[in-house]
Amino acid sequence: MTRTRTQDPAESLIRPGPAENTKLLIDGELVDASSGKTFATVDPSTGMPLGLAADAGPEDMDAAIAAARRAFDTTDWARDHVLRARCLRALRDRLQSHIEELREVTIAEAGAPAFFTTGPQLEGPVSDLGYFADLAESYQWETELGTARPMGILTRRALLREPVGVVGAVTPWNFPHQINLAKVGPALAAGNTVVLKPAPDTPWCAALVAKIAAEEAGFPAGVFNVVTSSDHALGAQLATDPRVDLVSFTGSTDTGRAVMAAASESLKKVFLELGGKSAFIVLDDLDAGALASACATAAFTVSTHAGQGCALTTRLLVPRARLEEAVTATADVMGGLAPGDPADPGTICGPLISERQRARVEEYLRLAVEEGGTVVCGGGRPAGKDEGFYIEPTLIAGLDNSSRTAREEIFGPVLVILPHDGDEDAVRIANDSPYGLSGAVWGEDPGRIDRVVRGVRTGTLSVNGGIWYSADVPFGGYKQSGIGREMGVSGFEEYLETKAVAYPA
Ligand code: NAD
Repeated sequence: MTRTRTQDPAESLIRPGPAENTKLLIDGELVDASSGKTFATVDPSTGMPLGLAADAGPEDMDAAIAAARRAFDTTDWARDHVLRARCLRALRDRLQSHIEELREVTIAEAGAPAFFTTGPQLEGPVSDLGYFADLAESYQWETELGTARPMGILTRRALLREPVGVVGAVTPWNFPHQINLAKVGPALAAGNTVVLKPAPDTPWCAALVAKIAAEEAGFPAGVFNVVTSSDHALGAQLATDPRVDLVSFTGSTDTGRAVMAAASESLKKVFLELGGKSAFIVLDDLDAGALASACATAAFTVSTHAGQGCALTTRLLVPRARLEEAVTATADVMGGLAPGDPADPGTICGPLISERQRARVEEYLRLAVEEGGTVVCGGGRPAGKDEGFYIEPTLIAGLDNSSRTAREEIFGPVLVILPHDGDEDAVRIANDSPYGLSGAVWGEDPGRIDRVVRGVRTGTLSVNGGIWYSADVPFGGYKQSGIGREMGVSGFEEYLETKAVAYPA
Protein backbone atom coordinates (compact mmCIF):
# COMPACT_ATOMS: atom_id res chain seq x y z
CA MET A 1 0.00 0.00 0.00
CA THR A 2 1.39 3.33 -1.00
CA ARG A 3 0.00 6.65 0.18
CA THR A 4 -0.89 8.46 -2.98
CA ARG A 5 -2.05 11.95 -3.75
CA THR A 6 -3.79 11.05 -6.98
CA GLN A 7 -7.34 12.38 -7.48
CA ASP A 8 -8.41 9.38 -9.49
CA PRO A 9 -9.15 6.20 -7.53
CA ALA A 10 -8.59 4.05 -10.58
CA GLU A 11 -5.12 5.56 -11.02
CA SER A 12 -4.09 4.53 -7.51
CA LEU A 13 -4.70 0.90 -8.53
CA ILE A 14 -1.71 1.11 -10.82
CA ARG A 15 0.47 1.16 -7.74
CA PRO A 16 1.18 -2.35 -6.49
CA GLY A 17 0.46 -3.23 -2.85
CA PRO A 18 -1.52 -5.56 -0.64
CA ALA A 19 -4.56 -3.37 -0.09
CA GLU A 20 -5.04 -1.65 -3.42
CA ASN A 21 -8.39 -3.26 -4.27
CA THR A 22 -9.80 -5.13 -1.31
CA LYS A 23 -12.35 -7.98 -1.33
CA LEU A 24 -15.22 -9.26 0.75
CA LEU A 25 -14.82 -12.39 2.87
CA ILE A 26 -17.87 -14.60 2.40
CA ASP A 27 -18.02 -18.31 3.25
CA GLY A 28 -14.23 -18.61 3.42
CA GLU A 29 -13.64 -16.98 0.01
CA LEU A 30 -12.20 -13.55 -0.81
CA VAL A 31 -14.57 -12.24 -3.46
CA ASP A 32 -15.55 -9.07 -5.29
CA ALA A 33 -19.03 -7.62 -4.81
CA SER A 34 -21.46 -9.62 -6.96
CA SER A 35 -22.31 -6.40 -8.81
CA GLY A 36 -18.60 -5.80 -9.46
CA LYS A 37 -18.94 -2.38 -7.77
CA THR A 38 -16.15 -0.74 -5.78
CA PHE A 39 -15.88 2.45 -3.78
CA ALA A 40 -12.96 4.71 -2.93
CA THR A 41 -11.41 4.88 0.52
CA VAL A 42 -9.91 8.27 1.31
CA ASP A 43 -6.81 9.43 3.18
CA PRO A 44 -8.16 12.05 5.62
CA SER A 45 -4.75 13.71 5.92
CA THR A 46 -4.83 14.63 2.22
CA GLY A 47 -8.49 14.27 1.22
CA MET A 48 -7.32 12.10 -1.67
CA PRO A 49 -8.42 8.54 -2.50
CA LEU A 50 -6.07 5.79 -1.40
CA GLY A 51 -7.64 3.04 -3.49
CA LEU A 52 -10.75 0.91 -3.79
CA ALA A 53 -12.77 -1.52 -1.68
CA ALA A 54 -15.44 -4.01 -2.78
CA ASP A 55 -18.83 -2.31 -2.51
CA ALA A 56 -21.21 -5.03 -1.35
CA GLY A 57 -24.93 -4.92 -2.03
CA PRO A 58 -27.84 -6.61 -0.21
CA GLU A 59 -27.30 -9.88 -2.13
CA ASP A 60 -23.71 -10.11 -0.83
CA MET A 61 -24.89 -9.44 2.73
CA ASP A 62 -27.54 -12.11 2.23
CA ALA A 63 -24.84 -14.62 1.16
CA ALA A 64 -22.66 -13.72 4.16
CA ILE A 65 -25.55 -14.20 6.61
CA ALA A 66 -26.43 -17.53 4.94
CA ALA A 67 -22.81 -18.68 5.25
CA ALA A 68 -22.62 -17.70 8.92
CA ARG A 69 -25.95 -19.43 9.62
CA ARG A 70 -24.82 -22.64 7.87
CA ALA A 71 -21.45 -22.63 9.67
CA PHE A 72 -23.18 -22.23 13.02
CA ASP A 73 -25.94 -24.78 12.42
CA THR A 74 -24.03 -27.54 10.62
CA THR A 75 -20.43 -27.51 11.91
CA ASP A 76 -18.82 -28.24 15.24
CA TRP A 77 -17.50 -24.67 15.65
CA ALA A 78 -19.89 -23.85 18.52
CA ARG A 79 -18.69 -26.84 20.57
CA ASP A 80 -14.98 -27.04 19.66
CA HIS A 81 -13.28 -24.68 22.15
CA VAL A 82 -9.82 -25.95 21.22
CA LEU A 83 -10.28 -25.18 17.51
CA ARG A 84 -11.62 -21.72 18.30
CA ALA A 85 -8.71 -20.87 20.60
CA ARG A 86 -6.27 -22.14 17.96
CA CYS A 87 -7.83 -20.04 15.16
CA LEU A 88 -7.92 -16.89 17.31
CA ARG A 89 -4.28 -17.29 18.36
CA ALA A 90 -3.33 -17.93 14.73
CA LEU A 91 -5.18 -14.76 13.72
CA ARG A 92 -3.37 -12.78 16.43
CA ASP A 93 0.02 -14.19 15.38
CA ARG A 94 -0.58 -13.61 11.67
CA LEU A 95 -1.84 -10.07 12.26
CA GLN A 96 1.28 -9.44 14.34
CA SER A 97 3.45 -10.68 11.49
CA HIS A 98 1.72 -8.14 9.19
CA ILE A 99 1.72 -5.38 11.79
CA GLU A 100 3.67 -2.79 9.76
CA GLU A 101 1.37 -3.19 6.77
CA LEU A 102 -1.66 -2.87 9.08
CA ARG A 103 -0.12 0.16 10.74
CA GLU A 104 0.39 1.88 7.41
CA VAL A 105 -3.22 1.25 6.39
CA THR A 106 -4.56 2.38 9.79
CA ILE A 107 -2.63 5.67 9.70
CA ALA A 108 -3.52 6.30 6.06
CA GLU A 109 -7.19 5.33 6.15
CA ALA A 110 -8.35 6.25 9.69
CA GLY A 111 -5.94 9.18 10.09
CA ALA A 112 -4.86 7.54 13.36
CA PRO A 113 -1.75 9.17 14.86
CA ALA A 114 1.16 6.70 14.55
CA PHE A 115 1.93 6.73 18.31
CA PHE A 116 -1.60 5.46 18.98
CA THR A 117 -1.12 2.39 16.74
CA THR A 118 1.23 0.89 19.35
CA GLY A 119 -1.79 0.90 21.70
CA PRO A 120 -5.56 0.93 21.22
CA GLN A 121 -5.50 1.78 17.51
CA LEU A 122 -3.81 -1.50 16.50
CA GLU A 123 -1.31 -3.44 18.59
CA GLY A 124 -3.52 -3.52 21.72
CA PRO A 125 -6.61 -5.08 20.12
CA VAL A 126 -4.51 -7.52 18.04
CA SER A 127 -2.75 -8.78 21.14
CA ASP A 128 -6.08 -8.91 23.04
CA LEU A 129 -7.27 -11.69 20.71
CA GLY A 130 -5.08 -13.92 22.88
CA TYR A 131 -7.11 -12.95 25.95
CA PHE A 132 -10.31 -14.16 24.27
CA ALA A 133 -8.60 -17.35 23.02
CA ASP A 134 -7.56 -18.06 26.64
CA LEU A 135 -11.13 -17.41 27.80
CA ALA A 136 -12.50 -19.96 25.28
CA GLU A 137 -10.30 -22.57 26.99
CA SER A 138 -10.58 -21.50 30.63
CA TYR A 139 -14.21 -20.41 30.82
CA GLN A 140 -16.50 -22.48 33.01
CA TRP A 141 -18.95 -23.65 30.32
CA GLU A 142 -20.93 -25.84 32.73
CA THR A 143 -21.92 -25.18 36.33
CA GLU A 144 -23.53 -27.67 38.73
CA LEU A 145 -26.26 -26.03 40.80
CA GLY A 146 -26.65 -29.10 43.03
CA THR A 147 -29.87 -30.82 43.99
CA ALA A 148 -33.17 -29.36 45.17
CA ARG A 149 -36.79 -30.52 45.51
CA PRO A 150 -38.84 -28.20 43.31
CA MET A 151 -42.50 -29.37 43.44
CA GLY A 152 -41.40 -32.27 45.63
CA ILE A 153 -39.24 -33.92 42.95
CA LEU A 154 -35.58 -34.44 43.84
CA THR A 155 -33.69 -32.86 40.95
CA ARG A 156 -30.07 -32.20 39.99
CA ARG A 157 -29.67 -28.88 38.13
CA ALA A 158 -26.90 -27.74 35.80
CA LEU A 159 -26.26 -24.61 33.78
CA LEU A 160 -24.76 -24.74 30.29
CA ARG A 161 -23.39 -21.59 28.65
CA GLU A 162 -23.80 -21.69 24.87
CA PRO A 163 -23.13 -19.28 22.01
CA VAL A 164 -26.01 -17.09 20.88
CA GLY A 165 -25.63 -18.08 17.20
CA VAL A 166 -25.00 -15.71 14.28
CA VAL A 167 -23.62 -12.32 15.36
CA GLY A 168 -23.94 -9.25 13.14
CA ALA A 169 -21.23 -6.71 14.04
CA VAL A 170 -21.70 -3.12 12.82
CA THR A 171 -18.83 -0.73 13.54
CA PRO A 172 -17.69 2.91 13.15
CA TRP A 173 -14.46 4.34 11.73
CA ASN A 174 -12.76 6.02 14.66
CA PHE A 175 -10.96 2.99 16.20
CA PRO A 176 -11.50 0.44 13.41
CA HIS A 177 -9.31 -2.39 14.74
CA GLN A 178 -10.16 -1.87 18.39
CA ILE A 179 -13.89 -1.95 17.77
CA ASN A 180 -13.88 -4.67 15.07
CA LEU A 181 -11.67 -7.03 17.09
CA ALA A 182 -13.37 -6.33 20.45
CA LYS A 183 -16.53 -7.72 18.82
CA VAL A 184 -15.10 -10.42 16.55
CA GLY A 185 -12.67 -11.81 19.20
CA PRO A 186 -15.13 -12.54 22.02
CA ALA A 187 -17.99 -13.45 19.65
CA LEU A 188 -15.87 -16.13 17.91
CA ALA A 189 -14.24 -17.28 21.16
CA ALA A 190 -17.72 -17.83 22.60
CA GLY A 191 -18.61 -20.10 19.64
CA ASN A 192 -20.68 -17.77 17.49
CA THR A 193 -20.23 -17.16 13.79
CA VAL A 194 -19.85 -13.53 12.68
CA VAL A 195 -20.72 -11.16 9.87
CA LEU A 196 -18.76 -7.91 10.29
CA LYS A 197 -19.91 -4.76 8.48
CA PRO A 198 -17.33 -2.02 9.03
CA ALA A 199 -17.92 1.71 8.47
CA PRO A 200 -17.80 2.95 4.86
CA ASP A 201 -14.92 5.28 5.86
CA THR A 202 -12.55 2.47 6.90
CA PRO A 203 -13.14 -0.56 4.66
CA TRP A 204 -9.45 -1.38 4.21
CA CYS A 205 -8.72 -1.86 7.92
CA ALA A 206 -11.38 -4.57 8.06
CA ALA A 207 -10.65 -6.03 4.62
CA LEU A 208 -6.96 -6.49 5.38
CA VAL A 209 -7.81 -8.37 8.60
CA ALA A 210 -10.30 -10.46 6.56
CA LYS A 211 -7.62 -11.31 3.97
CA ILE A 212 -5.14 -12.41 6.64
CA ALA A 213 -7.87 -14.41 8.43
CA ALA A 214 -8.90 -16.13 5.18
CA GLU A 215 -5.44 -16.93 3.90
CA GLU A 216 -3.46 -17.60 7.05
CA ALA A 217 -5.51 -18.25 10.21
CA GLY A 218 -7.33 -21.53 9.39
CA PHE A 219 -10.93 -20.54 10.23
CA PRO A 220 -13.54 -22.97 8.86
CA ALA A 221 -15.53 -21.49 5.94
CA GLY A 222 -18.45 -19.27 6.97
CA VAL A 223 -17.34 -18.73 10.56
CA PHE A 224 -15.98 -15.20 9.95
CA ASN A 225 -17.39 -13.01 7.16
CA VAL A 226 -16.52 -9.38 6.36
CA VAL A 227 -18.76 -7.28 4.12
CA THR A 228 -17.49 -3.80 3.18
CA SER A 229 -19.98 -1.42 1.61
CA SER A 230 -20.62 2.26 0.96
CA ASP A 231 -24.25 1.60 1.86
CA HIS A 232 -25.35 2.03 5.51
CA ALA A 233 -28.45 -0.04 4.68
CA LEU A 234 -26.35 -3.20 4.92
CA GLY A 235 -26.03 -2.52 8.65
CA ALA A 236 -29.79 -2.24 8.88
CA GLN A 237 -30.07 -5.52 6.94
CA LEU A 238 -28.02 -7.28 9.65
CA ALA A 239 -30.30 -5.79 12.31
CA THR A 240 -33.51 -6.98 10.64
CA ASP A 241 -32.56 -10.37 9.16
CA PRO A 242 -34.15 -13.13 11.31
CA ARG A 243 -31.19 -15.47 10.66
CA VAL A 244 -29.01 -13.13 12.76
CA ASP A 245 -29.37 -13.85 16.50
CA LEU A 246 -27.53 -10.87 17.97
CA VAL A 247 -26.52 -7.50 16.60
CA SER A 248 -23.47 -5.89 18.19
CA PHE A 249 -23.33 -2.22 17.27
CA THR A 250 -20.92 0.63 17.97
CA GLY A 251 -21.65 4.08 16.62
CA SER A 252 -23.77 7.14 17.25
CA THR A 253 -26.68 7.11 19.67
CA ASP A 254 -29.17 7.96 16.90
CA THR A 255 -28.06 5.03 14.76
CA GLY A 256 -28.08 2.79 17.85
CA ARG A 257 -31.71 3.72 18.38
CA ALA A 258 -32.49 2.76 14.74
CA VAL A 259 -30.63 -0.56 15.16
CA MET A 260 -32.58 -1.37 18.31
CA ALA A 261 -35.90 -0.57 16.60
CA ALA A 262 -34.99 -2.66 13.54
CA ALA A 263 -33.85 -5.57 15.73
CA SER A 264 -37.15 -5.54 17.61
CA GLU A 265 -38.95 -7.04 14.59
CA SER A 266 -37.15 -10.37 15.02
CA LEU A 267 -36.58 -9.78 18.78
CA LYS A 268 -32.87 -10.42 18.54
CA LYS A 269 -30.41 -9.56 21.27
CA VAL A 270 -28.92 -6.09 20.90
CA PHE A 271 -25.59 -4.93 22.22
CA LEU A 272 -24.92 -1.19 21.88
CA GLU A 273 -21.83 1.00 22.41
CA LEU A 274 -22.89 4.57 21.71
CA GLY A 275 -21.90 8.19 22.20
CA GLY A 276 -20.56 10.10 25.18
CA LYS A 277 -20.01 13.55 26.69
CA SER A 278 -17.83 12.55 29.59
CA ALA A 279 -16.77 14.84 32.45
CA PHE A 280 -13.21 15.44 33.69
CA ILE A 281 -13.71 16.61 37.29
CA VAL A 282 -11.02 18.64 39.07
CA LEU A 283 -11.46 18.96 42.86
CA ASP A 284 -10.43 22.10 44.73
CA ASP A 285 -7.82 20.43 46.97
CA LEU A 286 -5.19 20.26 44.19
CA ASP A 287 -2.25 22.66 44.48
CA ALA A 288 -1.37 24.87 41.52
CA GLY A 289 1.05 22.34 39.98
CA ALA A 290 -1.37 19.43 40.26
CA LEU A 291 -4.23 21.51 38.87
CA ALA A 292 -2.04 22.44 35.88
CA SER A 293 -1.22 18.72 35.35
CA ALA A 294 -4.91 17.83 35.47
CA CYS A 295 -5.74 20.54 32.92
CA ALA A 296 -2.85 19.44 30.67
CA THR A 297 -4.14 15.85 30.79
CA ALA A 298 -7.64 17.02 29.84
CA ALA A 299 -6.20 19.06 26.97
CA PHE A 300 -4.14 16.13 25.62
CA THR A 301 -7.01 13.68 26.01
CA VAL A 302 -9.51 15.64 23.97
CA SER A 303 -6.97 16.47 21.26
CA THR A 304 -5.82 12.87 20.74
CA HIS A 305 -6.96 11.49 17.37
CA ALA A 306 -8.69 14.87 16.82
CA GLY A 307 -11.19 14.11 19.58
CA GLN A 308 -12.72 11.19 17.67
CA GLY A 309 -13.18 8.92 20.65
CA CYS A 310 -16.51 8.21 22.29
CA ALA A 311 -14.91 7.87 25.76
CA LEU A 312 -12.87 11.09 25.65
CA THR A 313 -13.58 13.58 28.43
CA THR A 314 -15.01 16.56 26.56
CA ARG A 315 -16.33 18.57 29.55
CA LEU A 316 -13.72 19.91 31.98
CA LEU A 317 -15.32 20.72 35.37
CA VAL A 318 -13.13 22.96 37.54
CA PRO A 319 -13.66 24.79 40.89
CA ARG A 320 -15.33 28.17 40.20
CA ALA A 321 -12.74 30.04 42.28
CA ARG A 322 -9.96 28.62 40.10
CA LEU A 323 -11.65 28.94 36.71
CA GLU A 324 -9.22 31.52 35.36
CA GLU A 325 -6.17 29.52 36.51
CA ALA A 326 -7.63 26.39 34.86
CA VAL A 327 -8.53 28.15 31.59
CA THR A 328 -4.96 29.47 31.30
CA ALA A 329 -3.36 26.11 32.15
CA THR A 330 -5.57 24.24 29.65
CA ALA A 331 -5.16 26.76 26.82
CA ASP A 332 -1.37 26.82 27.32
CA VAL A 333 -1.25 23.12 26.44
CA MET A 334 -4.07 22.94 23.88
CA GLY A 335 -2.82 25.96 21.98
CA GLY A 336 0.52 24.19 21.48
CA LEU A 337 -0.96 20.98 20.09
CA ALA A 338 -0.92 21.85 16.41
CA PRO A 339 -2.66 19.26 14.23
CA GLY A 340 -0.18 17.30 12.17
CA ASP A 341 0.40 14.45 9.73
CA PRO A 342 -0.73 11.25 11.50
CA ALA A 343 2.30 9.41 10.08
CA ASP A 344 4.60 11.70 12.10
CA PRO A 345 5.45 9.91 15.40
CA GLY A 346 5.14 13.22 17.30
CA THR A 347 1.57 13.92 16.18
CA ILE A 348 -1.15 13.84 18.86
CA CYS A 349 -3.96 15.50 16.86
CA GLY A 350 -4.36 14.12 13.34
CA PRO A 351 -7.17 14.91 10.89
CA LEU A 352 -10.90 14.32 11.24
CA ILE A 353 -12.12 11.37 9.19
CA SER A 354 -13.98 13.26 6.45
CA GLU A 355 -15.11 16.61 5.10
CA ARG A 356 -18.60 15.76 6.42
CA GLN A 357 -17.24 15.26 9.95
CA ARG A 358 -15.24 18.49 9.76
CA ALA A 359 -18.31 20.40 8.62
CA ARG A 360 -20.19 18.97 11.62
CA VAL A 361 -17.46 20.09 14.05
CA GLU A 362 -17.31 23.55 12.43
CA GLU A 363 -21.07 23.85 12.85
CA TYR A 364 -20.62 23.18 16.60
CA LEU A 365 -17.86 25.81 16.78
CA ARG A 366 -20.27 28.35 15.26
CA LEU A 367 -22.99 27.22 17.68
CA ALA A 368 -20.65 27.62 20.68
CA VAL A 369 -20.12 31.29 19.83
CA GLU A 370 -23.82 31.80 19.05
CA GLU A 371 -24.65 30.37 22.50
CA GLY A 372 -22.37 32.98 24.11
CA GLY A 373 -19.20 30.92 24.44
CA THR A 374 -15.65 32.25 24.07
CA VAL A 375 -13.07 30.48 21.94
CA VAL A 376 -10.00 30.56 24.20
CA CYS A 377 -7.71 28.79 21.74
CA GLY A 378 -8.12 27.10 18.36
CA GLY A 379 -11.54 27.50 16.80
CA GLY A 380 -10.91 26.72 13.15
CA ARG A 381 -8.76 25.17 10.45
CA PRO A 382 -5.01 25.35 11.10
CA ALA A 383 -3.12 27.87 8.97
CA GLY A 384 -0.98 26.41 6.22
CA LYS A 385 -2.82 23.09 6.03
CA ASP A 386 -4.79 23.29 2.82
CA GLU A 387 -5.24 19.58 2.28
CA GLY A 388 -6.88 17.11 4.65
CA PHE A 389 -9.67 17.50 7.19
CA TYR A 390 -7.86 19.23 10.07
CA ILE A 391 -9.33 21.30 12.91
CA GLU A 392 -7.33 22.99 15.68
CA PRO A 393 -7.71 21.74 19.26
CA THR A 394 -10.25 24.18 20.67
CA LEU A 395 -11.10 25.31 24.21
CA ILE A 396 -14.54 26.89 24.78
CA ALA A 397 -15.28 28.86 27.97
CA GLY A 398 -18.18 30.99 29.15
CA LEU A 399 -20.98 28.44 28.72
CA ASP A 400 -22.93 26.42 31.24
CA ASN A 401 -23.98 22.80 31.16
CA SER A 402 -27.39 23.60 29.67
CA SER A 403 -25.82 24.77 26.37
CA ARG A 404 -26.00 22.41 23.40
CA THR A 405 -22.20 22.68 23.10
CA ALA A 406 -21.91 21.15 26.59
CA ARG A 407 -24.62 18.52 26.07
CA GLU A 408 -24.15 17.13 22.57
CA GLU A 409 -21.39 14.88 21.28
CA ILE A 410 -19.19 16.88 18.90
CA PHE A 411 -16.65 14.15 18.01
CA GLY A 412 -13.87 16.64 17.33
CA PRO A 413 -10.98 18.18 19.36
CA VAL A 414 -13.29 20.50 21.32
CA LEU A 415 -13.21 20.88 25.11
CA VAL A 416 -15.83 22.85 27.06
CA ILE A 417 -14.64 24.19 30.43
CA LEU A 418 -17.37 24.61 33.06
CA PRO A 419 -17.17 25.90 36.67
CA HIS A 420 -18.50 23.84 39.60
CA ASP A 421 -19.32 24.83 43.20
CA GLY A 422 -17.87 21.88 45.10
CA ASP A 423 -17.78 18.07 44.85
CA GLU A 424 -21.53 17.49 44.96
CA ASP A 425 -22.14 20.13 42.34
CA ALA A 426 -19.44 18.59 40.13
CA VAL A 427 -21.16 15.18 40.37
CA ARG A 428 -24.52 16.81 39.61
CA ILE A 429 -23.13 18.49 36.47
CA ALA A 430 -21.33 15.32 35.36
CA ASN A 431 -24.60 13.38 35.66
CA ASP A 432 -26.68 16.11 34.01
CA SER A 433 -26.18 14.50 30.59
CA PRO A 434 -28.07 12.00 28.45
CA TYR A 435 -24.80 10.05 28.27
CA GLY A 436 -22.80 8.06 30.84
CA LEU A 437 -19.83 6.49 29.10
CA SER A 438 -16.63 7.50 30.88
CA GLY A 439 -15.00 10.19 33.00
CA ALA A 440 -12.08 11.28 35.14
CA VAL A 441 -11.56 12.73 38.60
CA TRP A 442 -8.45 14.47 39.91
CA GLY A 443 -8.04 15.37 43.57
CA GLU A 444 -5.95 14.86 46.74
CA ASP A 445 -8.29 13.53 49.42
CA PRO A 446 -9.06 9.81 48.85
CA GLY A 447 -12.38 10.06 50.73
CA ARG A 448 -13.62 12.90 48.53
CA ILE A 449 -12.39 11.14 45.39
CA ASP A 450 -14.23 7.98 46.45
CA ARG A 451 -17.52 9.87 46.93
CA VAL A 452 -17.19 11.38 43.46
CA VAL A 453 -16.32 7.98 41.93
CA ARG A 454 -19.44 6.46 43.48
CA GLY A 455 -21.62 9.42 42.52
CA VAL A 456 -20.85 9.66 38.81
CA ARG A 457 -23.13 7.45 36.67
CA THR A 458 -20.75 6.20 34.02
CA GLY A 459 -19.22 2.93 32.77
CA THR A 460 -15.50 3.75 33.22
CA LEU A 461 -13.68 6.31 35.37
CA SER A 462 -10.02 7.30 35.59
CA VAL A 463 -8.68 8.58 38.94
CA ASN A 464 -5.64 10.89 38.84
CA GLY A 465 -4.55 9.56 35.45
CA GLY A 466 -5.22 5.82 35.93
CA ILE A 467 -5.84 3.91 32.66
CA TRP A 468 -8.88 1.61 32.49
CA TYR A 469 -8.34 0.44 28.89
CA SER A 470 -7.36 -3.25 28.92
CA ALA A 471 -8.59 -6.59 27.49
CA ASP A 472 -9.86 -7.74 30.90
CA VAL A 473 -11.72 -4.50 31.76
CA PRO A 474 -15.36 -4.21 30.65
CA PHE A 475 -16.12 -1.06 28.70
CA GLY A 476 -19.55 0.43 28.02
CA GLY A 477 -22.05 3.00 29.07
CA TYR A 478 -24.88 3.94 31.40
CA LYS A 479 -27.97 5.74 30.09
CA GLN A 480 -27.95 6.60 26.37
CA SER A 481 -24.29 5.57 26.02
CA GLY A 482 -25.31 2.00 25.46
CA ILE A 483 -26.50 -1.39 26.59
CA GLY A 484 -24.05 -4.08 27.66
CA ARG A 485 -20.28 -4.25 28.05
CA GLU A 486 -17.45 -4.94 25.61
CA MET A 487 -14.15 -6.66 26.61
CA GLY A 488 -13.44 -8.54 29.82
CA VAL A 489 -15.44 -11.56 30.97
CA SER A 490 -18.63 -9.44 30.85
CA GLY A 491 -17.90 -8.65 27.19
CA PHE A 492 -17.44 -12.36 26.44
CA GLU A 493 -20.67 -13.27 28.23
CA GLU A 494 -22.65 -10.80 26.08
CA TYR A 495 -22.24 -13.42 23.34
CA LEU A 496 -23.57 -16.34 25.41
CA GLU A 497 -26.97 -17.81 26.22
CA THR A 498 -27.72 -19.70 29.44
CA LYS A 499 -29.38 -23.12 29.36
CA ALA A 500 -30.68 -24.65 32.60
CA VAL A 501 -30.95 -28.46 32.57
CA ALA A 502 -32.78 -30.51 35.22
CA TYR A 503 -32.16 -34.27 35.80
CA PRO A 504 -33.97 -36.56 38.23
CA ALA A 505 -31.56 -37.10 41.14
P1 NAD B 1 -22.73 5.87 12.74
O1 NAD B 1 -23.67 5.59 13.81
O2 NAD B 1 -23.12 6.80 11.66
O3 NAD B 1 -22.30 4.54 11.98
C1 NAD B 1 -21.79 3.40 12.65
C2 NAD B 1 -22.01 2.18 11.79
O4 NAD B 1 -23.41 1.98 11.63
C3 NAD B 1 -21.44 2.27 10.38
O5 NAD B 1 -20.93 1.00 10.02
C4 NAD B 1 -22.67 2.60 9.53
O6 NAD B 1 -22.56 2.15 8.19
C5 NAD B 1 -23.75 1.81 10.25
N1 NAD B 1 -25.11 2.31 10.08
C6 NAD B 1 -25.52 3.54 9.71
N2 NAD B 1 -26.87 3.60 9.69
C7 NAD B 1 -27.31 2.38 10.09
C8 NAD B 1 -28.61 1.83 10.32
N3 NAD B 1 -29.72 2.53 10.15
N4 NAD B 1 -28.69 0.55 10.75
C9 NAD B 1 -27.58 -0.18 10.97
N5 NAD B 1 -26.33 0.30 10.76
C10 NAD B 1 -26.20 1.56 10.33
O7 NAD B 1 -21.42 6.34 13.49
P2 NAD B 1 -20.06 6.83 12.85
O8 NAD B 1 -20.29 8.17 12.25
O9 NAD B 1 -19.45 5.77 12.01
O10 NAD B 1 -19.16 6.95 14.19
C11 NAD B 1 -19.19 8.05 15.03
C12 NAD B 1 -20.11 7.82 16.21
O11 NAD B 1 -19.87 6.57 16.85
C13 NAD B 1 -19.93 8.84 17.30
O12 NAD B 1 -21.17 9.36 17.66
C14 NAD B 1 -19.32 8.07 18.46
O13 NAD B 1 -19.64 8.53 19.73
C15 NAD B 1 -19.81 6.71 18.25
N6 NAD B 1 -18.87 5.74 18.81
C16 NAD B 1 -19.17 5.09 19.98
C17 NAD B 1 -18.27 4.18 20.51
C18 NAD B 1 -18.55 3.45 21.79
O14 NAD B 1 -17.88 2.47 22.05
N7 NAD B 1 -19.48 3.86 22.60
C19 NAD B 1 -17.08 3.92 19.86
C20 NAD B 1 -16.80 4.59 18.69
C21 NAD B 1 -17.72 5.49 18.16
